[in-house]
Amino acid sequence: CFFLPRFAWWPRRASRTKVRNPRRGIIPECHPQIFYSHIETAAAKLGLELHIVEVLKRPMRVLSVSFPVKMDDGTIRVFEGYRSQHNDALGPTKGGIRFHPDVTLDEVKALSMWMSFKCGVVGLPYGGGKGGVVCDPRTLSPGELERVSRGFIEAISQIIGPDKDIPAPDVYTNPQIMGWMMDTYSRIKQSFSPGVITGKPLIIGGSKGRNEATARGCVITIQEAMKKLGRPLKDATVAIQGFGNAGRIASRLLSELGCKIVAVSDSKGAIYDPNGLDLRKVEYLKDHRSLLDYGVEYQIDPSALLELKVDILIPAALENAITSNNAGRVQAKIIAEAANGPISPEADRILADKNILVIPDILANAGGVTVSYFEWVQNLMNYYWSEKEINMKLADIMVNSFHAVYEAAQEYSTDLRTAAYIISLKRITEAMKARGWV
Ligand code: GLU
Repeated sequence: CFFLPRFAWWPRRASRTKVRNPRRGIIPECHPQIFYSHIETAAAKLGLELHIVEVLKRPMRVLSVSFPVKMDDGTIRVFEGYRSQHNDALGPTKGGIRFHPDVTLDEVKALSMWMSFKCGVVGLPYGGGKGGVVCDPRTLSPGELERVSRGFIEAISQIIGPDKDIPAPDVYTNPQIMGWMMDTYSRIKQSFSPGVITGKPLIIGGSKGRNEATARGCVITIQEAMKKLGRPLKDATVAIQGFGNAGRIASRLLSELGCKIVAVSDSKGAIYDPNGLDLRKVEYLKDHRSLLDYGVEYQIDPSALLELKVDILIPAALENAITSNNAGRVQAKIIAEAANGPISPEADRILADKNILVIPDILANAGGVTVSYFEWVQNLMNYYWSEKEINMKLADIMVNSFHAVYEAAQEYSTDLRTAAYIISLKRITEAMKARGWV
């Protein structure tokens, strides 16, 4: 037995149950198990046969790849990545690719299941997929990032395609990366294939409104939820955990609607001003310096942001932000899950007991994949819509889906999360039955 030193670039292996995230300490690993209780609860309400639940507990296909990449210093580094395709009863599988040092196969599998239910709740003709590469893009040069992106898509090129599985951006991936990936796939197939991936730059078949779509969809669900609670948006206080694409654009849209953004955070820390933050200054600092330069008197502990007395709390970072450890201290009236899986199942129960309305991730952040769907449709017909048309179509789907979920929650006397799963489960089951699978 010998000891191997772990170099900075050595792909880390997560332990089975815990992942050490350098930015957040020990967190429970995101595991497909999280879904079992959601699916089982929803299936029980619907009286579904056990074998249907069994089918949905596993992805139909998982590909694990490793590929060499030439680094700028001339060395060769081997990267690992995964693509999971959960269920394609409703159509090709769909879902993002994340670049993150903590990516694990279990996480990617779980997130592909998430995508099936997300597409189901808003009625898209897709199943769920997800991919991930174990890497820290912040430590890669632009050239290395490009070679990792192209290397990964080449490694999974056999199982993706416009009518098979359509990737998209996710944590730490962006339109440029999607552009490189589409280019690599098109070269392999020797035919221009913009429909293989969504979230591309506009000039090569991206959709207007895609960049803002996740936040816009999330804000629409918040508007509808506030109406249901009979509360005005004007002067409603908002705390946002995570100031990436979704969190940042949500802050902008909500402040345009009259809300007061009182707290935001990123991986470096959190700032809070009960009188409302100056968003222009916050965005400037995020781009050019650090959020913390807003002023030492405004800095708070990032975990305290989740416990502020606000009307609306938006977890827009990674999984497991609210667990049984802190759920009891959450004071928001509404939580809109812009991130995937920010609330653990135990925390869900605690929040329900406190009467906090949780807009579940599969609904709250479905705006992103919805406009991805519009992008794919535009690519297939080679005809492009205006931003106004996109936003109208998005609003239509989000408002209708919110109300369908809200009504299902009343019909089945349950929370919005279970109701959202019920709607998806009905659609996926109907498709599997129509195809004669179950
Ligand atoms: N990664 C996003 C999500 O988790 C978008 C997926 C897509 O557009 O296909 O919903």
